[in-house]
Amino acid sequence: MEPITALLDEILEESRALRDGAPADYIPELAVADPDQLALAVVGPHGRVRAVGDADAQFTIQSISKPFVLALALQERGREAVLAKVGVEPSGEPFNAISLEAGTGRPANPMVNAGAIATSALVVGDEIDDRMTRIVDTLSAFAGRSLWVDEAVYASESATGDRNRALAHLLRSHGVIDGPVDIAVETYFRQCSLLVTVRDLAVMAATLAFGGVNPMTGDRVVREEVARDVMSIMASCGMYDFSGEWLLRVGLPAKSGVSGGLVAVAPSQFGVGAFSPNLDGHGNSVRASSVVEAIAERFGMHMLEPH
Ligand code: GLU
Repeated sequence: MEPITALLDEILEESRALRDGAPADYIPELAVADPDQLALAVVGPHGRVRAVGDADAQFTIQSISKPFVLALALQERGREAVLAKVGVEPSGEPFNAISLEAGTGRPANPMVNAGAIATSALVVGDEIDDRMTRIVDTLSAFAGRSLWVDEAVYASESATGDRNRALAHLLRSHGVIDGPVDIAVETYFRQCSLLVTVRDLAVMAATLAFGGVNPMTGDRVVREEVARDVMSIMASCGMYDFSGEWLLRVGLPAKSGVSGGLVAVAPSQFGVGAFSPNLDGHGNSVRASSVVEAIAERFGMHMLEPH
Protein backbone atom coordinates (compact mmCIF):
# COMPACT_ATOMS: atom_id res chain seq x y z
CA MET A 1 0.00 0.00 0.00
CA GLU A 2 1.31 3.48 -0.87
CA PRO A 3 2.11 5.65 2.19
CA ILE A 4 -0.73 8.09 1.39
CA THR A 5 -3.26 5.26 1.04
CA ALA A 6 -1.98 3.71 4.27
CA LEU A 7 -2.51 7.04 6.02
CA LEU A 8 -6.06 7.30 4.66
CA ASP A 9 -6.71 3.76 5.86
CA GLU A 10 -5.41 4.63 9.31
CA ILE A 11 -7.69 7.68 9.47
CA LEU A 12 -10.64 5.57 8.33
CA GLU A 13 -9.99 2.87 10.91
CA GLU A 14 -9.80 5.44 13.72
CA SER A 15 -13.40 6.40 13.03
CA ARG A 16 -14.68 2.81 12.91
CA ALA A 17 -15.09 2.80 16.69
CA LEU A 18 -17.76 5.54 16.47
CA ARG A 19 -21.08 3.81 16.95
CA ASP A 20 -23.42 6.76 17.52
CA GLY A 21 -26.33 7.70 15.31
CA ALA A 22 -28.60 5.70 13.04
CA PRO A 23 -29.37 5.50 9.32
CA ALA A 24 -32.12 7.78 7.98
CA ASP A 25 -35.48 6.05 8.32
CA TYR A 26 -37.95 8.30 6.49
CA ILE A 27 -38.05 5.69 3.70
CA PRO A 28 -37.48 1.93 4.16
CA GLU A 29 -34.75 1.77 1.48
CA LEU A 30 -32.43 3.97 3.56
CA ALA A 31 -33.34 2.44 6.93
CA VAL A 32 -32.01 -0.97 5.83
CA ALA A 33 -28.52 0.40 5.04
CA ASP A 34 -25.72 -1.59 6.70
CA PRO A 35 -24.49 0.79 9.43
CA ASP A 36 -21.02 -0.82 9.38
CA GLN A 37 -20.29 0.46 5.88
CA LEU A 38 -17.46 2.96 5.87
CA ALA A 39 -15.50 4.38 2.93
CA LEU A 40 -13.22 7.23 1.99
CA ALA A 41 -11.75 8.48 -1.30
CA VAL A 42 -9.45 11.36 -2.12
CA VAL A 43 -8.57 12.84 -5.53
CA GLY A 44 -5.72 15.27 -6.15
CA PRO A 45 -4.67 17.46 -9.09
CA HIS A 46 -3.66 14.54 -11.35
CA GLY A 47 -7.07 12.91 -11.08
CA ARG A 48 -5.81 9.76 -9.41
CA VAL A 49 -8.40 8.26 -7.04
CA ARG A 50 -7.14 6.84 -3.74
CA ALA A 51 -9.89 4.93 -1.96
CA VAL A 52 -10.10 2.85 1.23
CA GLY A 53 -12.85 0.89 3.02
CA ASP A 54 -16.09 -0.01 1.19
CA ALA A 55 -15.07 2.11 -1.76
CA ASP A 56 -17.36 0.32 -4.23
CA ALA A 57 -20.48 0.46 -2.03
CA GLN A 58 -23.25 2.31 -3.86
CA PHE A 59 -25.67 4.65 -2.13
CA THR A 60 -28.06 7.37 -3.28
CA ILE A 61 -26.57 10.82 -3.54
CA GLN A 62 -29.54 12.56 -1.82
CA SER A 63 -28.74 16.14 -0.77
CA ILE A 64 -25.23 15.97 -2.20
CA SER A 65 -26.94 16.42 -5.57
CA LYS A 66 -27.89 19.95 -4.48
CA PRO A 67 -24.55 21.75 -5.08
CA PHE A 68 -24.07 19.99 -8.43
CA VAL A 69 -27.55 20.79 -9.73
CA LEU A 70 -26.93 24.34 -8.50
CA ALA A 71 -23.77 24.33 -10.63
CA LEU A 72 -25.87 23.36 -13.65
CA ALA A 73 -28.44 26.11 -12.94
CA LEU A 74 -25.66 28.69 -12.54
CA GLN A 75 -23.96 27.48 -15.70
CA GLU A 76 -27.19 27.68 -17.74
CA ARG A 77 -28.88 30.72 -16.23
CA GLY A 78 -26.10 32.82 -14.68
CA ARG A 79 -25.71 34.00 -11.10
CA GLU A 80 -28.26 36.85 -11.12
CA ALA A 81 -31.08 34.70 -12.52
CA VAL A 82 -30.43 32.09 -9.83
CA LEU A 83 -30.24 34.69 -7.05
CA ALA A 84 -33.58 36.10 -8.18
CA LYS A 85 -35.18 32.77 -7.18
CA VAL A 86 -33.09 31.53 -4.25
CA GLY A 87 -31.01 33.26 -1.57
CA VAL A 88 -27.55 32.41 -0.22
CA GLU A 89 -28.00 32.93 3.52
CA PRO A 90 -27.47 30.05 5.95
CA SER A 91 -30.88 29.21 7.42
CA GLY A 92 -29.65 27.62 10.66
CA GLU A 93 -32.71 25.43 10.29
CA PRO A 94 -33.24 21.76 9.40
CA PHE A 95 -33.06 20.78 5.72
CA ASN A 96 -36.82 20.43 5.30
CA ALA A 97 -37.80 23.67 7.08
CA ILE A 98 -40.19 26.08 5.43
CA SER A 99 -37.54 28.79 5.32
CA LEU A 100 -38.86 31.27 2.82
CA GLU A 101 -37.96 34.97 2.89
CA ALA A 102 -40.84 37.16 4.07
CA GLY A 103 -42.43 38.98 1.14
CA THR A 104 -40.53 37.44 -1.77
CA GLY A 105 -40.94 33.76 -0.78
CA ARG A 106 -37.34 33.12 -1.87
CA PRO A 107 -35.88 30.07 -0.09
CA ALA A 108 -32.95 30.84 2.23
CA ASN A 109 -30.35 28.97 0.17
CA PRO A 110 -29.99 26.17 -2.44
CA MET A 111 -28.79 23.60 0.13
CA VAL A 112 -32.12 23.32 2.02
CA ASN A 113 -34.92 21.42 0.31
CA ALA A 114 -37.00 24.48 -0.59
CA GLY A 115 -33.98 26.08 -2.27
CA ALA A 116 -32.98 22.85 -3.99
CA ILE A 117 -36.47 22.41 -5.44
CA ALA A 118 -36.34 26.02 -6.69
CA THR A 119 -32.91 25.28 -8.21
CA SER A 120 -34.13 22.12 -9.96
CA ALA A 121 -36.97 24.21 -11.40
CA LEU A 122 -34.34 26.48 -13.00
CA VAL A 123 -32.77 23.65 -15.00
CA VAL A 124 -33.65 24.13 -18.67
CA GLY A 125 -36.27 21.71 -20.05
CA ASP A 126 -40.06 21.47 -20.36
CA GLU A 127 -40.47 17.90 -19.12
CA ILE A 128 -38.95 15.86 -16.30
CA ASP A 129 -37.03 13.76 -18.83
CA ASP A 130 -35.45 16.81 -20.51
CA ARG A 131 -34.28 18.17 -17.18
CA MET A 132 -33.13 14.79 -15.91
CA THR A 133 -31.05 14.24 -19.03
CA ARG A 134 -29.23 17.51 -18.36
CA ILE A 135 -28.86 16.75 -14.65
CA VAL A 136 -27.62 13.17 -15.18
CA ASP A 137 -25.22 14.32 -17.93
CA THR A 138 -23.82 17.10 -15.74
CA LEU A 139 -23.44 15.02 -12.57
CA SER A 140 -21.89 12.23 -14.65
CA ALA A 141 -19.40 14.73 -16.11
CA PHE A 142 -18.55 15.83 -12.56
CA ALA A 143 -18.04 12.16 -11.57
CA GLY A 144 -16.26 11.12 -14.77
CA ARG A 145 -18.58 8.16 -15.41
CA SER A 146 -22.25 7.57 -16.23
CA LEU A 147 -24.54 7.72 -13.19
CA TRP A 148 -28.07 6.33 -13.02
CA VAL A 149 -31.16 6.53 -10.83
CA ASP A 150 -32.10 3.89 -8.23
CA GLU A 151 -35.74 3.49 -9.29
CA ALA A 152 -36.85 1.88 -5.98
CA VAL A 153 -35.50 4.80 -3.93
CA TYR A 154 -37.04 7.28 -6.37
CA ALA A 155 -40.44 5.55 -6.10
CA SER A 156 -40.27 5.76 -2.29
CA GLU A 157 -39.13 9.39 -2.29
CA SER A 158 -42.04 10.26 -4.55
CA ALA A 159 -44.59 8.18 -2.60
CA THR A 160 -43.63 9.81 0.71
CA GLY A 161 -42.67 13.29 -0.49
CA ASP A 162 -45.66 15.27 0.74
CA ARG A 163 -43.60 17.81 2.64
CA ASN A 164 -41.40 18.53 -0.38
CA ARG A 165 -44.51 18.75 -2.55
CA ALA A 166 -46.04 21.22 -0.07
CA LEU A 167 -42.83 23.29 -0.21
CA ALA A 168 -43.02 23.31 -4.00
CA HIS A 169 -46.64 24.51 -3.93
CA LEU A 170 -45.63 27.34 -1.57
CA LEU A 171 -42.79 28.26 -3.92
CA ARG A 172 -45.18 28.36 -6.85
CA SER A 173 -47.64 30.53 -4.93
CA HIS A 174 -44.81 33.08 -4.54
CA GLY A 175 -43.80 32.83 -8.21
CA VAL A 176 -40.43 31.27 -7.31
CA ILE A 177 -41.40 28.26 -9.44
CA ASP A 178 -43.11 29.20 -12.70
CA GLY A 179 -43.92 25.83 -14.23
CA PRO A 180 -45.85 22.81 -12.94
CA VAL A 181 -45.04 21.78 -9.36
CA ASP A 182 -44.84 18.10 -10.28
CA ILE A 183 -42.06 18.63 -12.79
CA ALA A 184 -39.90 20.50 -10.25
CA VAL A 185 -40.50 18.09 -7.41
CA GLU A 186 -40.22 14.80 -9.35
CA THR A 187 -37.00 16.09 -10.92
CA TYR A 188 -35.73 16.78 -7.40
CA PHE A 189 -36.70 13.27 -6.18
CA ARG A 190 -34.98 11.69 -9.17
CA GLN A 191 -31.77 13.70 -8.75
CA CYS A 192 -31.65 12.64 -5.05
CA SER A 193 -31.94 8.99 -6.15
CA LEU A 194 -28.81 8.90 -8.32
CA LEU A 195 -26.45 6.12 -7.22
CA VAL A 196 -22.85 7.02 -6.37
CA THR A 197 -19.77 5.65 -4.59
CA VAL A 198 -17.16 7.56 -2.56
CA ARG A 199 -14.93 7.49 -5.64
CA ASP A 200 -17.60 9.39 -7.57
CA LEU A 201 -18.03 11.90 -4.75
CA ALA A 202 -14.29 12.51 -4.51
CA VAL A 203 -14.00 13.14 -8.27
CA MET A 204 -17.06 15.41 -8.16
CA ALA A 205 -15.53 17.39 -5.28
CA ALA A 206 -12.17 17.53 -7.06
CA THR A 207 -13.87 18.99 -10.15
CA LEU A 208 -15.01 21.88 -7.96
CA ALA A 209 -11.58 22.09 -6.28
CA PHE A 210 -9.90 22.54 -9.67
CA GLY A 211 -12.15 25.32 -10.91
CA GLY A 212 -14.73 23.21 -12.77
CA VAL A 213 -12.30 20.95 -14.67
CA ASN A 214 -12.55 17.22 -13.88
CA PRO A 215 -8.95 16.24 -13.06
CA MET A 216 -9.61 12.60 -14.02
CA THR A 217 -11.09 13.18 -17.49
CA GLY A 218 -9.59 16.61 -18.18
CA ASP A 219 -13.03 17.87 -19.25
CA ARG A 220 -14.29 21.31 -18.29
CA VAL A 221 -17.68 20.70 -16.67
CA VAL A 222 -18.61 24.22 -15.53
CA ARG A 223 -17.06 27.68 -15.71
CA GLU A 224 -14.52 28.61 -13.04
CA GLU A 225 -16.78 31.23 -11.48
CA VAL A 226 -19.60 28.69 -11.22
CA ALA A 227 -17.34 26.32 -9.24
CA ARG A 228 -16.33 29.22 -6.98
CA ASP A 229 -19.96 30.24 -6.36
CA VAL A 230 -20.94 26.65 -5.53
CA MET A 231 -18.01 26.21 -3.10
CA SER A 232 -18.89 29.51 -1.39
CA ILE A 233 -22.45 28.34 -0.78
CA MET A 234 -21.26 24.91 0.40
CA ALA A 235 -18.94 26.65 2.88
CA SER A 236 -21.76 28.65 4.46
CA CYS A 237 -24.72 26.26 4.07
CA GLY A 238 -23.57 22.72 3.21
CA MET A 239 -23.77 20.89 6.54
CA TYR A 240 -27.40 21.47 7.50
CA ASP A 241 -27.74 23.39 10.78
CA PHE A 242 -24.13 22.52 11.71
CA SER A 243 -22.62 24.56 8.86
CA GLY A 244 -21.14 27.31 11.04
CA GLU A 245 -19.48 24.92 13.47
CA TRP A 246 -18.24 22.75 10.58
CA LEU A 247 -16.56 25.77 8.96
CA LEU A 248 -14.94 26.64 12.29
CA ARG A 249 -13.70 23.14 13.08
CA VAL A 250 -12.93 21.72 9.61
CA GLY A 251 -12.73 24.77 7.37
CA LEU A 252 -13.70 23.09 4.07
CA PRO A 253 -16.70 23.66 1.80
CA ALA A 254 -18.73 20.46 2.16
CA LYS A 255 -22.14 18.90 1.57
CA SER A 256 -23.72 15.95 3.31
CA GLY A 257 -26.76 13.84 2.48
CA VAL A 258 -29.19 11.65 4.41
CA SER A 259 -27.85 8.37 3.03
CA GLY A 260 -24.55 9.04 4.86
CA GLY A 261 -22.43 10.53 2.06
CA LEU A 262 -20.24 13.59 2.41
CA VAL A 263 -18.20 15.62 -0.10
CA ALA A 264 -15.55 18.12 0.95
CA VAL A 265 -13.40 20.39 -1.18
CA ALA A 266 -9.91 21.66 -0.44
CA PRO A 267 -9.67 24.32 -3.17
CA SER A 268 -6.77 23.70 -5.62
CA GLN A 269 -5.69 20.66 -3.56
CA PHE A 270 -8.15 17.76 -3.11
CA GLY A 271 -11.64 16.47 -3.52
CA VAL A 272 -12.80 14.16 -0.72
CA GLY A 273 -15.72 11.72 -0.62
CA ALA A 274 -16.72 9.79 2.52
CA PHE A 275 -19.60 7.50 3.40
CA SER A 276 -21.09 5.76 6.42
CA PRO A 277 -24.86 5.49 6.99
CA ASN A 278 -25.27 6.44 10.68
CA LEU A 279 -26.40 10.07 11.00
CA ASP A 280 -26.17 12.50 13.91
CA GLY A 281 -28.96 14.81 15.07
CA HIS A 282 -28.19 17.34 12.30
CA GLY A 283 -28.45 14.69 9.58
CA ASN A 284 -24.69 14.47 8.95
CA SER A 285 -22.91 11.10 8.85
CA VAL A 286 -21.13 10.60 12.17
CA ARG A 287 -18.15 8.68 10.81
CA ALA A 288 -17.85 10.49 7.45
CA SER A 289 -17.73 13.82 9.30
CA SER A 290 -15.10 12.52 11.69
CA VAL A 291 -12.97 11.11 8.85
CA VAL A 292 -13.05 14.39 6.91
CA GLU A 293 -12.29 16.39 10.05
CA ALA A 294 -9.28 14.13 10.71
CA ILE A 295 -7.99 14.48 7.14
CA ALA A 296 -8.35 18.25 7.24
CA GLU A 297 -6.39 18.33 10.49
CA ARG A 298 -3.65 15.88 9.42
CA PHE A 299 -3.05 17.61 6.09
CA GLY A 300 -3.57 21.16 7.42
CA MET A 301 -6.39 21.77 4.93
CA HIS A 302 -8.49 24.36 6.82
CA MET A 303 -9.01 26.96 4.10
CA LEU A 304 -8.39 29.87 6.45
CA GLU A 305 -5.08 28.53 7.66
CA PRO A 306 -2.09 30.38 6.16
CA HIS A 307 -0.58 28.20 3.41
N1 GLU B 1 -34.57 13.09 -0.56
C1 GLU B 1 -34.36 13.74 0.69
C2 GLU B 1 -35.46 14.71 0.97
O1 GLU B 1 -35.62 15.66 0.27
C3 GLU B 1 -33.01 14.37 0.69
C4 GLU B 1 -32.72 14.96 1.98
C5 GLU B 1 -31.26 15.10 2.30
O2 GLU B 1 -30.36 14.36 1.86
O3 GLU B 1 -31.04 16.03 3.10
O4 GLU B 1 -36.19 14.56 1.89
